[in-house]
Amino acid sequence: MGLIRRIGDGTSTRVWEDRWIPMAIGNKPICRRDGGTAIHVCDLMTPDGRDWDVEALEHNLIPMDAEAVRRIPLGHTRDDFWAWSEEKHGLYIVRSAYRMLARNEAQQRHFDENRAAHSASMDDPMWKMLWKCKVPPKVRVFWWRVAHEFLPSRANLHRRHMEPLGTCETCGAQAETSFHALTECTYARAFWQRLKELTGVKLPLLNQRTRVIDLLDGSLCSELERNIILCGMWSIWQSRNDRHHGKKEIQLKLAIDWATDVCLQLMSAVSQKPNEHGRVVCPSWSPPPPGQLKVNTDAAFSKDELSGATGAVVRRDDGSFVKAAARRLPSVASALIAEAEACRDGIRLVSLLPAAGIILETDSLEFVSAWMHRQQQRSEIVSILEDIQVVAADFSYFEVRHVHRMANKLAHVCASHASSCNI
Ligand SMILES: [Zn+2]
Repeated sequence: MGLIRRIGDGTSTRVWEDRWIPMAIGNKPICRRDGGTAIHVCDLMTPDGRDWDVEALEHNLIPMDAEAVRRIPLGHTRDDFWAWSEEKHGLYIVRSAYRMLARNEAQQRHFDENRAAHSASMDDPMWKMLWKCKVPPKVRVFWWRVAHEFLPSRANLHRRHMEPLGTCETCGAQAETSFHALTECTYARAFWQRLKELTGVKLPLLNQRTRVIDLLDGSLCSELERNIILCGMWSIWQSRNDRHHGKKEIQLKLAIDWATDVCLQLMSAVSQKPNEHGRVVCPSWSPPPPGQLKVNTDAAFSKDELSGATGAVVRRDDGSFVKAAARRLPSVASALIAEAEACRDGIRLVSLLPAAGIILETDSLEFVSAWMHRQQQRSEIVSILEDIQVVAADFSYFEVRHVHRMANKLAHVCASHASSCNI
C-alpha cells in the first residue's frame, strides 16, 4: 500500500499486475482490451522509449486508462523504480517523520492560536503588521510566539527551571535562545546559506533585540523576501524540534533540505494567491552576465481539463530577443509537470546555441526545489529532470533560478497564447 512504480524504460514494470498509473483507480489499468498483447510497460512506448505509443495504448487499454497513461511524463531512459505514492517527492521517511511531529504539535498550536487571537489587542501595531503578512497563519502565530519569547527554546525552558541546562544541543553554544536557534546556530547558518543559493534571498543582519519589528516593518528587505524569511524561520524551528524529539538519525543535510523544501512550498502556496492590494514591489527581468543567455520559461495548467501549455523565451545579455517557443500540452497531470515540461522545452531551445553559459528562470518554486534536490528525487518529474541534466551537461555553465512571476511575463504570454490555441 502506498508504493507505486515510476516509469523509466518500462522494462521491469508489468502492465496489468503492478501499480504504476498515478491517476488510475488502484494505480492499475481497469481492464485489458480484447486482443491486447502488452505485457510490460515498455510495450506501450515508442521504440526509443521517449514517448507513449498512441496506437499501442489504444490497442491495449480502454480510453480512460490510455488517457491516464499519457499523462505520465517520459524522458531520459533509466530503470523503473518504486516510489511512495502519497508523497509528491516520493520520499517516505523524512516527510512521515514530519507528519508525526505535526500531529503532536497541532494541539499546542491550536491552543496558541486561540490565545494569540484573544490576547493580542487589536491596536497592537506589531500584531497588525504581522496580520498583513502574506504567509500561512501558522507562520504568523509562530512569529508572534518568537516576539513574546513563548518559544520553548532550551534557554527559555532553563530560565523557567524546566530544563537543567540551556545549552544548544546542535552546536553546543552556551544558551540556545530563539535568536540563536533561528539565526546563529551552525544549523541555522547552513539553512540560510542554502536558501540564498536557492532563491537569492539573503537573511539581513538582525539585531537580537529589535529583529521581530525590523523584519516586519520592511526596513531591511522587500515584502517578498520578508515572507520567505518568516517561512524559513518557521521551518528551521520545525526541523530543530524534529531533531530534538529523538530523531537524531536525520542528517543535518537532509534536515536542511527538508526545511528549505517546506519553506519553498509554503511560499509557493501563498504566491499562488496574489493579492491585488498587496504592496509588493514588482521585480523586472534582469539580463544574464556578459556572453551568457537567459531562458525564461512558464507553463499554463488547467486543473479541470488536465491540459496545459509551455512557453520559453531566450534573450541575450543586452536584452535582445534570440528565440521563443510555445507548445500546447493536450494531456498533463499537474502544474508541476507542466512547469517541468516548460523548462525542458526551454533548455532544448538553447541546446545548439553558442553561449558562455545558460541561466534558466522559472517562477515555479516547486520546480526549483525539485531541481535542487534532483539527486534524491523520486517524483513524477524525474525523467524530465534527467533530460534537462543531460542537455545542461554540454554547457560550461548552467543554473536554474527562481524568478518572480512579474519578471517572467514574456514566457507567461507565450504559454497563455499556446494554451488558448487549439492546435
Ligand atoms: Zn546551536
